[in-house]
Amino acid sequence: MIEAKPETIEKMRRFAETFAERSGTVVNPNKEAAEAVIKGLAAHVDELGKPLCPCNFYPDKYEEVKRRRWICACDEMQVFKYCHCLLFTTPEGLPITEYLPEWHEGRQIYGLVKDPNPDKGRALSKPEKIYEVLKEYVEERGLDIPDEEIWKFAYETAKKKK
Ligand code: SF4
Repeated sequence: MIEAKPETIEKMRRFAETFAERSGTVVNPNKEAAEAVIKGLAAHVDELGKPLCPCNFYPDKYEEVKRRRWICACDEMQVFKYCHCLLFTTPEGLPITEYLPEWHEGRQIYGLVKDPNPDKGRALSKPEKIYEVLKEYVEERGLDIPDEEIWKFAYETAKKKK
């Protein structure tokens, strides 16, 4: 990954503050952790023209940009309010996992982390989108989760949107 320009880093810092406020999260109070992600996002802006999530491996970054799902704020953030990079967190610096299914790695790593501001964020939390994101997750990892279970979870989780 290339080193980002200072002005791009500053732009991504502002983006992070604004998005955190809008989504009812905070920028990780661990400044070092937050800065590492912000710099990674900024480097992708300079390299690819888009803030592709810096916390994943991509076989082809340009193809991934076209798919859009990992452009910050990514689908997982906009659907589940879950940021696996730990950029957008609770005030305690934890990722929100309340809206993830129990078999998602976020729940398995961090347990249940409640959303302190359920009235904000989750802009894309509609059943069809929840299903789409989870179906992709299940297929990529080869998990044996039946379609009906994913749909059921998607409808129940969408109802929690305020
Ligand atoms: S996990 Fe999503 S919201 Fe968090 S930094 Fe990566 S792209 Fe952004």
